[in-house]
Amino acid sequence: MSEDCIFCKIINGDFNTEFVYENDYAVVFNDINPKAPIHLLVVPKVHVESLNELEDKNLMGELIQTVKDATKKLGIKSYKTLINTGKDAGQEVFHLHIHILANKGEK
Ligand code: AMP
Ligand code: ZN
Repeated sequence: MSEDCIFCKIINGDFNTEFVYENDYAVVFNDINPKAPIHLLVVPKVHVESLNELEDKNLMGELIQTVKDATKKLGIKSYKTLINTGKDAGQEVFHLHIHILANKGEK
């Protein structure tokens, strides 16, 4: 947990954010400013600033598994995934996360 990290606070339950999926490794919730009809964020429960700081290779496997399990549970069959790494690439929240973007009703 990083004191001034918004995603750590969300994981901690500080904002009562609804988790559409959760497992031991990650939570999944709706992006507050969606850039597609469905825009979810897969956020690891441990604080890692970005892909550049990630040392635990297994965690990325668990996050990809979370993408699969969450989309399956929610009936999302077709989607894009995106990870922004670094400010110049558009990373705004420095707690690693995977975006899931989809259109509603896409097969
Ligand atoms: P990135 O630009 O890759 O760091 O993505 C950060 C994402 O977090 C953006 O799409 C924001 O809309 C989203 N975001 C920021 N604050 C919140 C929040 N409190 N709840 C949900 N999503 C958020
Ligand atoms: Zn954090």
